[in-house]
Amino acid sequence: MAECIFCKIVAGDIPCHKVYEDDHVLAFLDIGPLSHGHTLIVPKTHHPTLDQVPDDVAAACGAIVPRLARAILRATGATAWNLLQNNGPDAGQEVEHVHFHIIPRESDDNLGFRWHTKSLDSDAALNLKVAISDALR
Ligand code: 5GP
Ligand code: ZN
Repeated sequence: MAECIFCKIVAGDIPCHKVYEDDHVLAFLDIGPLSHGHTLIVPKTHHPTLDQVPDDVAAACGAIVPRLARAILRATGATAWNLLQNNGPDAGQEVEHVHFHIIPRESDDNLGFRWHTKSLDSDAALNLKVAISDALR
């Protein structure tokens, strides 16, 4: 994708602070970090959102998450971390090349991560689980 900023980073046309690379995946520091060590993992192929990613590409992205998170924890001294993954503008995605955020956390860092929950209606749940299970076929 000629106009995609993450494709340009993968191609080396835009610089980044690379922390990891393999045949399928690149990881680099976020240019607008939420915390010290905020890192992005991107597949080298262009896919807008995770639901459009082939299984092997998703597996390559997921496989590096634990090792990268351990390294980031060790390097930053963070005590916790969030894995954030936004899909679509309505979910807050700004760069339309699928990516995973590793966000180091510590107590009282004021980043927050509390969403307002609703209760699960039992009739709605029955219909929903059937609809999702059917859609998986
Ligand atoms: P999104 O909201 O799409 O999930 O997150 C996009 C992330 O990409 C943001 O955290 C933003 O700071 C980061 N970002 C956008 N452009 C660049 C860039 O050119 N270089 C780097 N390293 N990060 C970027
Ligand atoms: Zn791209």
